[in-house]
Amino acid sequence: MLSVSGIHKSFGGVQALADAALDCASGEVIGLIGPNGAGKSTLVNVISGFLAPDAGQVVLDGALLQGRTPQHISASGIARTFQNLRVFRDLTVRQNIEVASLRARQLRRDGPPMLGVDALLETFGLADRMSDAAGALPYGTRRWMEIARAMATGPRILLLDEPAAGLNDEESDRLHQIITRLRDLTRIGVVVIDHDLTFINNVCDRLFVMDQGRLIASGAPAAVWRNPKVIEVYVGP
Ligand code: ADP
Ligand code: MG
Repeated sequence: MLSVSGIHKSFGGVQALADAALDCASGEVIGLIGPNGAGKSTLVNVISGFLAPDAGQVVLDGALLQGRTPQHISASGIARTFQNLRVFRDLTVRQNIEVASLRARQLRRDGPPMLGVDALLETFGLADRMSDAAGALPYGTRRWMEIARAMATGPRILLLDEPAAGLNDEESDRLHQIITRLRDLTRIGVVVIDHDLTFINNVCDRLFVMDQGRLIASGAPAAVWRNPKVIEVYVGP
């Protein structure tokens, strides 16, 4: 469904992506890992249209998306969250989700059935906080709202950049359950970046490992962790 290949991206003299690749099918959870600076966030920025690649292809259900605007890509069915939280602080939780949903209904051409705002509030356990101002929420709750907002656009693919950062163990378990539940409800494909390897190993069906802008391994987690290149990056030579 989502197929990303041959992505190159440089910032001045820094080559952030050198032949990066990723794919994700409907109903699949992909883990994307790699050391700091490996190019994970840059790849998410390219897939979601926040950066144009110097070369390479982003294909969703046969449509070429590389270099299109974030609005176009969102309307085509790719939603994302950011490594740093972005919410409308003065709007309520319900309003934050409604704005995303309304905007998506105006923009999108076709796509899978969208979860309604009430279903999202329920799934994310946000129903009793829905009238609170988003800016006043505890950090974990804001995380749920941010992901609920991305889901309100009715995506085929959801990109989560470090969603477990700053969450405690209980919240990480909750995030795992939410990702699995969303996948089961909507058959969405999910790409999750995280540094917590236990969390990633438990949540993903396939693992992609990047180093220095390149994909160095991908496949079932157990096989990836036996790959000598991955061992070298994570354990040392
Ligand atoms: P990761 O998310 O895996 O930690 P990034 O994609 O953020 O890695 O960064 C990859 C490389 O690209 C790093 O060397 C980083 O410093 C560089 N980089 C990322 N974004 C920019 C930018 N906007 N301008 C200049 N360099 C950048
Ligand atoms: Mg990053």
